Amino acid sequence: MFSLLIALVSLFDHSNEIIRDAAPFVVVFGVAQDGGVPHAGCARECCREAWTNPALRRRVSCLAIVDPKTSERWMIDATPDFPAQLYTLNEIAPITNQPALTGIFLTHGHIGHYSGLMHLGREVMGSREVPVYAMPRMMEFLSTSGPWDQLIRLRNIILQPLHDGGMVKLNERISVQPFLVPHRDEYTETVGFRITGPQRAVIFIPDIDKWEKWTTRIEELISEVDRAYLDGTFYADGEVTGRAMSEIPHPFIVESIERFSTLPEVEKAKVRFIHLNHTNRALRDTSEAAQRIYDAGFHIAKEDERFEL
Ligand SMILES: [Zn+2]
Ligand SMILES: [Zn+2]
Ligand SMILES: [Zn+2]
Repeated sequence: MFSLLIALVSLFDHSNEIIRDAAPFVVVFGVAQDGGVPHAGCARECCREAWTNPALRRRVSCLAIVDPKTSERWMIDATPDFPAQLYTLNEIAPITNQPALTGIFLTHGHIGHYSGLMHLGREVMGSREVPVYAMPRMMEFLSTSGPWDQLIRLRNIILQPLHDGGMVKLNERISVQPFLVPHRDEYTETVGFRITGPQRAVIFIPDIDKWEKWTTRIEELISEVDRAYLDGTFYADGEVTGRAMSEIPHPFIVESIERFSTLPEVEKAKVRFIHLNHTNRALRDTSEAAQRIYDAGFHIAKEDERFEL
């Protein structure tokens, strides 16, 4: 009996060991552009079914970083879908202690990327001192405009400064590094993030103007990491009707495919298009657009997919 107990205890010990040593990972919590799918006011074919079929809904682009060893969780961007995304995070990496998140990293001041912060305030969660990492203009914006300044005053959030290229060490195993990208910077600058774990690294660039406008060569960045979540807002020119698409520049997926066409297959396979607009046909896996992406050696980000760091 006693030896059986010892065997059981050592079994438990062993399983704990496995859990403690589990690799940190990123998980995709959303793949859509700021307005999500279905999109406010859209009754066209791209959204019609999604209004009544929850399986076709897509949350706004968001990555979470989880370290199972330390039970720490971070989110990149606080989206309009923050409540559902936090729920999913609690399902896959439950914690009982406050604050609800170890930290939130913000890419920029467009509504799909920070407005979820409102749920941390007095009206909803009343969070205690959640660290929010932001670039200088983003910090200024949050500190000087309501309702965001109240989150700071009530210490629901604590701003943590980021600098272009400045590495933030999250713990012994994970670091995050912001880098500036060209984008419509009406209120704030815009960054992408490189997330580096003990074995692998990931880049996340949900919003950027055309690749050519950037002084960094995106191909170089892709070659330095193991997975690249890249702006796939629009599939091709002309998909948004009644609006000049030049006012909302993004690298069209067809342009990225063309630009990356000479890369080795292993490099192409790292690319996951994310931040897809409701009009983007590639949102439907059965579409010709999605098929063309796969045939060319690239991928489309999927909600709940994980990548070990
Ligand atoms: Zn966006
Ligand atoms: Zn639509
Ligand atoms: Zn944006």
